[in-house]
Amino acid sequence: MSSQSFDLIVIGAGPGGYVCAFRAAQLGLKVALIEKRDALGGTCLNVGCIPSKALLHSTEQFVFAKSHAAEHGIKLGSVAIDIATLLKKKDSVVTKLTGGVAALAKARKITVITGAARFASPTEVEVATANPAAPQRLTAKNIVIATGSAPVELPFMKFDGETVVSSDHAVAFNAVPQKLVVVGGGAIGLELGSVWARLGAEVTVVEFLPKIIATYDDDIVRAFTRILQKQGLKIEVGAKVTGYANGVLTAERGAEKLSFSADKVLVAVGRRPFTDALNLAAAGVELDEKKRVKVDGHLKTNVPGIWALGDVVAGPMLAHKAEEDGVAVAEWIAQKAGHVNWDLIPAVVYTDPEVASVGLGEDAAKAAGLAVNIGKFNFAANGRALANDAADGFVKIIADAKTDKILGAQIVGRGAGDLISEIVTHMEYGGSAEDLARTVHAHPTMSEAVKEAALAVAKRALHAI
Ligand SMILES: Cc1cc2nc3c(=O)[nH]c(=O)nc-3n(C[C@H](O)[C@H](O)[C@H](O)COP(=O)(O)OP(=O)(O)OC[C@H]3O[C@@H](n4cnc5c(N)ncnc54)[C@H](O)[C@@H]3O)c2cc1C
Repeated sequence: MSSQSFDLIVIGAGPGGYVCAFRAAQLGLKVALIEKRDALGGTCLNVGCIPSKALLHSTEQFVFAKSHAAEHGIKLGSVAIDIATLLKKKDSVVTKLTGGVAALAKARKITVITGAARFASPTEVEVATANPAAPQRLTAKNIVIATGSAPVELPFMKFDGETVVSSDHAVAFNAVPQKLVVVGGGAIGLELGSVWARLGAEVTVVEFLPKIIATYDDDIVRAFTRILQKQGLKIEVGAKVTGYANGVLTAERGAEKLSFSADKVLVAVGRRPFTDALNLAAAGVELDEKKRVKVDGHLKTNVPGIWALGDVVAGPMLAHKAEEDGVAVAEWIAQKAGHVNWDLIPAVVYTDPEVASVGLGEDAAKAAGLAVNIGKFNFAANGRALANDAADGFVKIIADAKTDKILGAQIVGRGAGDLISEIVTHMEYGGSAEDLARTVHAHPTMSEAVKEAALAVAKRALHAI
């Protein structure tokens, strides 16, 4: 068995793992990056963030061409969808990005090994690799577990890849389902539900909790739910799925029995940390009660020299969070001052319109007994939003009543995912609503609605009563 030693071994080349490897290489460490998939980039680039956004973009174009182009005087004739080309376009985006990650790894002189890794001891990893030239046993003083997550399966409705599917399958359906039931009203279910609804599938979202995107404020969810319903999605909340047989999904809402016919069921009820086959016992690494790798405030496991980050540890399962973890761990390993502000991780649902949040919501702030001032501004009063057919939704800023410090923000509206980032920046520097309100925003932009919401905190929005 060929053996090689490194300063750092990273297991898993998702956004957490490959970014950690990149930063460590920048800091002069000799790094090995092990990935069991053929392509780098993890869930995010291969079956997650990127393919879903490519499909969302293509289907937005389709909806525009089919339903809105004529309003603009654009005459297109008949509009139809070619699924094979749609998937090819998505795949080309994925290939470009995964290839880009591989090229960057090579330029940084990182040893990339394709194969599944397992611990042999706290400082040794074995790789089942098909490449005879690659080392099969690697040793290092520092090892990072960045093995990510996998879709949660319902025990009574196992994935078969055909009718009961996960997001891995739903980013690659080769035909539009007639009736798609999405179990779970979170970001992944709503994004992929929107994709197939736009292409003509009859989509029903069945959510166990009393509302979809349950971590958001009630007013945001109400507005968002109405918009999705106008787009044709059926939304059933407070409904517990009980099974799927003979093309019918059954659920219960209290004593009420529900049934939905479905040729495909997308189960999107969450993701589980993935540590299968890693042989953590050989290293002595402990898991927490939710089977996540247990880490401290510096992402160190209980075993000296072994770190974990991204989806496999506690915290939001988001690519940008994983990336920040990756940078910080590389810097800590290199004895630098790494830092992640886990209180300010923005979250986005990339439907049309998008929904975005950062920090504390109004409902959570009030439930915690905090005195807050709220500023809201509707896109319907924003010139650019009207010009862009994006008048649905609003910006909401939550500020401390005494100090005016921004505690959080939530936005439902076109481009919310981009708009939230200036609020994250203000919050990162401890900014107040007044700071944000006095910052010059270009006209006409959707971002003026953010400034107006900040003015509204002090009840002085200029373009609203
Ligand atoms: C449909 C979908 C859409 C999403 N959209 C977004 C979005 O828009 N924005 C966002 O922020 N997040 C999104 N996410 C979540 C995002 O993909 C994850 O949060 C992110 O990929 C986590 O990064 P990670 O590096 O921790 O793990 P992963 O990306 O899961 O990477 C882990 C890698 O480790 C590899 N691995 C596992 N075990 C081993 C082993 N033993 N040996 C070698 N390799 C191994 C896996 O093959 C995988 O490639 C989405 C997820 C899905 C499913």
